[in-house]
Amino acid sequence: MIVGIDLGTTNSLISIWHDGQAVLMPNALGDLFTPSVVGLGDSGELLVGRAARDRLITHPERTTAWFKRHMGTGRVVQLNGRSYRPEELSAFVLRALKADAEEFLGQAVHRAVITVPAYFRDAQRKATLVAGELAGLRVERLLNEPTAGALAYGLQQGVDQTTALVFDLGGGTFDVSVLEFFEGVVEVRASAGDGFLGGEDFTEALLRDFLNKTGLKSDELKRDTAIWNRLRKTIDHARCRLSEDEAVQIRFPINESELAAELHREDLALLWEPLLKRLRYPVEQALRDARIRPSELDEIVLIGGATRMSLVRDLVARMFGRFPAFSIPPDEAVALGAAVQGGLLSEDRALRETVLTDVAPYSLGIEVTHRTAAFGSEAGLFDPIIERNTVIPASRSGFYSTVQDGQRHIDIKVYQGESRFVRDNTFLGKISVRVPPGPAGSETIEVRFTYDPSGILDIDARVLSTGVPYRRTIQENPGVLGPEEVEKRLKALSHLKVHPRDQAQNAATLARANRMFEESLGERRREIGDLLAHFQTCLQAQDPELIERARNEMDVRLTDLEEEPYF
Ligand code: AMP
Repeated sequence: MIVGIDLGTTNSLISIWHDGQAVLMPNALGDLFTPSVVGLGDSGELLVGRAARDRLITHPERTTAWFKRHMGTGRVVQLNGRSYRPEELSAFVLRALKADAEEFLGQAVHRAVITVPAYFRDAQRKATLVAGELAGLRVERLLNEPTAGALAYGLQQGVDQTTALVFDLGGGTFDVSVLEFFEGVVEVRASAGDGFLGGEDFTEALLRDFLNKTGLKSDELKRDTAIWNRLRKTIDHARCRLSEDEAVQIRFPINESELAAELHREDLALLWEPLLKRLRYPVEQALRDARIRPSELDEIVLIGGATRMSLVRDLVARMFGRFPAFSIPPDEAVALGAAVQGGLLSEDRALRETVLTDVAPYSLGIEVTHRTAAFGSEAGLFDPIIERNTVIPASRSGFYSTVQDGQRHIDIKVYQGESRFVRDNTFLGKISVRVPPGPAGSETIEVRFTYDPSGILDIDARVLSTGVPYRRTIQENPGVLGPEEVEKRLKALSHLKVHPRDQAQNAATLARANRMFEESLGERRREIGDLLAHFQTCLQAQDPELIERARNEMDVRLTDLEEEPYF
């Protein structure tokens, strides 16, 4: 049994292929979406999901979110005096999802397909594998999110050839893939994207506009993380409402007063113009790389929560002169597709006829020096070995010779990117190969790159004259933990106390009430304070029935209060 996991920037979901269909599994709160937010509770226990998301407002120094954006970098976050890497934070989310799936399925879960943006680089992919390992999961495959989205649409099931473009705008990343389907074969023709463009950037633009209108200074506000997070959330909420409504009122209580501004949908086009423009480039590049004209596309598939924004949908409709497919909720499609891939890998009979091929999102190559009679030598050039959009798994070699007399080593410096100059590409790592000294050009090495189906690179080098092989999986990247470090982190994490799953609902309700208390003023705040005090008393009485009744009553009242026009 292999579960599918959409490890998202904002929310994560877990799914399974069961009885010939993909099924999403609920978490301890009964939700299909688990916010990708991690925090430490008041007694140091680990909280994941909705409770942690509410505590971003009330306990920002003990809570963190959006760490997917930092996967594959060495960047750490401090929580209560200890530092955590992005892959550890992701592992906490994965562990929570795994526990939810085990509860739902009634059996242990050890194997998973995890989705990643097609544009994730080598280090980000490896960090995702490490996150899986830290969570006790064997990652059977990393699946590109747009490919997962297309699998969810079942486009592979048609008999006729279908060409589709998947437009995936999530919380933090933007991916475009052009795929071809024919009698069960899914072929990714090209992918392109922008790793730093998502719903959050649209929120950011609205936030700047709100600050301008109200005269608030972001530097001062940012000093109080709780206020800053609360403001971001208010603006994000307003943005989502603008997907449905023509105008929204934003009201923000601060220092016993209230700031207000009105936002109209028609203002958004101007405000978001630079972001909407950035959505065009990857679409154009993917079509160019796939050598396909927009009129040749049979389907345009929208996935990722941020494609709910009406301006984004309008833009897509204008670009392609038709309306995109929208029958599966765009924020569920990736997880459903991951379940399909899980079924494929478990060789489920219903899927046996489907074959999936994907492509390398970047070119991979090494640094070379060119010598020409006319211009002398030019160093620092990039020589691609596997070109972008090559179907993977793929294995390709290049041959390189010594350039100096008596040279004893050839350093193979591996890069990822598209520029002619290595300085503009991403350095992945280095291998030093010993060669017998001789005149320049007398020794040749073969460098073979192998890209596995998850997009992970292996390198083999061989000196032709001696046949001596060198082999490595690129690991020197500071953004990726080595095996020993993973072992150490696993030990450290095993001491961390996890908040008990059976109390997840109490924790979520408490966190929500505390968050709403901080967001409110006057009578509303007093009422929430009273509700909290009553609930705390019930919790202390330790009578499960009493607690459940009090919690349900409080949840109903909090929902009513949230729906009242306050912000
Ligand atoms: P994903 O990474 O696919 O979960 O997408 C999350 C992003 O979708 C976040 O930036 C959300 O704010 C955004 N989103 C979710 N629902 C809506 C909505 N109704 N309107 C606009 N954006 C939304």
